[in-house]
Amino acid sequence: MKQFPEVIDKTGILISNSSSHFFDHCKKIAEEKYFQFNPKILASASKHLQDLVRIRSVTGFEGKILHHITQTLENYDLPPVFDVNVYEPNIVVEYRGDPKNKKFTSFVSHVDTVDFDANEWSHAPDSGDLIEIDGEWKLYGRGSLDVKQGSAASLALIEALIEQPVDKNFRFVFYEGEETGDPTGASALIQQGIITPENTDVAFVIEPSKKNIIHGAFCNITIEVRVDGISGHSSEPDHAINAIRVLAEAIVEIDEKFERPSIRLGDELFVSTLAPTVFDTPDKSTNVIKGTASALFDLRLVPNTDPEVVRKSIETLLNCVCARHEAESKCTLIKTEQGGVALWNDSTDFDSDIMAPCQLPRKVYTLARAFNLKPLIGKFWSDLATMLSAGIPAVNIGGGPIERAHKKDEYLTIEELGDLMSQMCFLAFDGLE
Ligand SMILES: [Zn+2]
Repeated sequence: MKQFPEVIDKTGILISNSSSHFFDHCKKIAEEKYFQFNPKILASASKHLQDLVRIRSVTGFEGKILHHITQTLENYDLPPVFDVNVYEPNIVVEYRGDPKNKKFTSFVSHVDTVDFDANEWSHAPDSGDLIEIDGEWKLYGRGSLDVKQGSAASLALIEALIEQPVDKNFRFVFYEGEETGDPTGASALIQQGIITPENTDVAFVIEPSKKNIIHGAFCNITIEVRVDGISGHSSEPDHAINAIRVLAEAIVEIDEKFERPSIRLGDELFVSTLAPTVFDTPDKSTNVIKGTASALFDLRLVPNTDPEVVRKSIETLLNCVCARHEAESKCTLIKTEQGGVALWNDSTDFDSDIMAPCQLPRKVYTLARAFNLKPLIGKFWSDLATMLSAGIPAVNIGGGPIERAHKKDEYLTIEELGDLMSQMCFLAFDGLE
């Protein structure tokens, strides 16, 4: 078997040498978490993360990073228990340590990122800068947190499984198109019958989850509201019906009066959110009163909500304002992404109207107990929802908070990467120490 190369990052830190300062940091995290038997794994995951961040992969341009992952896998001289399949354009690596079992535990990570304006960043978005600040190491770059940490940790775990085989089955899925819900990503893998409820005992969909286990995802829908008034010259407002004024009033009214669906889960109440995020008029002239204006509402709805019911209730509020001003209105559902919840366990006393398409396997509770975690529902949409809608038991795991995603100077701390690494190591190596 080939040796994994000693690696040096651009700041000159030797990260696979047991005497280096950075490696000591990794070792300390490994001792506190679940992989004290293999501290090298975190150093390796850090190096992979740095390499992956240095390859730009904004949605639609993932070719280079997927090629890099394929090449990395080719360098490994994988033993025959591994099988690398490229389902254009996505990569699925299978590790078959238990050939009698037809099911795989899957680690699922998207490789694409949202776009960025490099001028706003103090560390270049593709720098992969690894910097120590007050004893904490931060790795900067677009995608470091959301969610190249998943691919980096997967590659490091594949290396560890080469060195230390286990009698379990794992799948590592590297896929594109998550950030825009592109149909060539997770949904393609499901539609092609590659990820199915029959071959997956649980899919760990990696997203920044603050080391929690998230077993439910909100729906994400977008509604366009449009107002048609009467255009006119700005000097004669009395002869026009100003669509901007009417729409602005409607936005405020919808925000105030829209009844947000909610669910109670244990002690916590989850409430849907609604936010106007786009306001538009067909032309930008300042001396014309606009006869038409439109806005988009982005809604994050608790999992069991019917988008059409929500659309109708927004339409009613909009119609009401428009009628007052004798304007026309239109309310259109332009995007719907399902939500979903997996059952946490038999004794869960969730409200019965929660959509619960699948039961989670025992290993998820074992993981939760070992890490002292409570079940959570994520307020952000992720492909967790895609999996659950297809009846595939799934949860989100991952390091760092979603609040830092999609922002300038995105970073992941090595400690946060260690949070993910420790849970993946627990799933792979529990009972082997
Ligand atoms: Zn993500």
